[in-house]
Amino acid sequence: MAKTFTIAVDGPAAAGKGTISKAVAAHFGFAHLDTGLLYRAVGAKLLLGMEPITAAQTLTAEDLEADDLRSPEVAQAASKVAVIAEVRAALLDFQRSFARRAGGAVLDGRDIGTVICPNAEAKLFVTASAEVRADRRFAELAASGAAISRAQVLADVKERDARDRDRAEAPLKPAEDAVEIDTSEMKIEVAIEAAIAVIEAKQAG
Ligand code: C5P
Repeated sequence: MAKTFTIAVDGPAAAGKGTISKAVAAHFGFAHLDTGLLYRAVGAKLLLGMEPITAAQTLTAEDLEADDLRSPEVAQAASKVAVIAEVRAALLDFQRSFARRAGGAVLDGRDIGTVICPNAEAKLFVTASAEVRADRRFAELAASGAAISRAQVLADVKERDARDRDRAEAPLKPAEDAVEIDTSEMKIEVAIEAAIAVIEAKQAG
């Protein structure tokens, strides 16, 4: 039977953890779960008027494919529902079973190395300055035609960072045994190579 191997990738919004996680998963042939999507799907339901705990408890695979989950409004709603302990609890088992699937898994989020998978075989904390992250997010949003200013994107990033870091439940912080990768002045290819090197070292024991 294929072995399990969990890679936890945490960090703030737009630090590059999604891109790094996808590349790492492809490199090692592991499955990838963007856990932010779970909170975004619950946030999207809140915007439609649904009670967030019920939304989390009844979430389906289809909900993760809803339109607009990447919008700034849904991102803010996601970080609001993410402070609710019962919402987090409802999403826990799915994430833990994904992490232990045969063949290996990469999960990216905010609390993977600290709460969801404290025993993950490899942990990364991907970070970058708020300004650099806002520039990247602004470029993505502008390319998709969104009418939003850079100043607004920076304010959104800072507001979401503060809410994610200061919450009582599973706050955003590096696990003690996480390796930090600061991508502020790093090309994404270099960051991916650094991540792969960390994981290969862990695999080698
Ligand atoms: O990663 P992404 O920006 O899609 O996450 C959206 C929001 O979901 C985050 O700002 C955070 O509040 C929440 N989240 C979380 N725990 C995770 C992943 C995301 O609280 N593991």
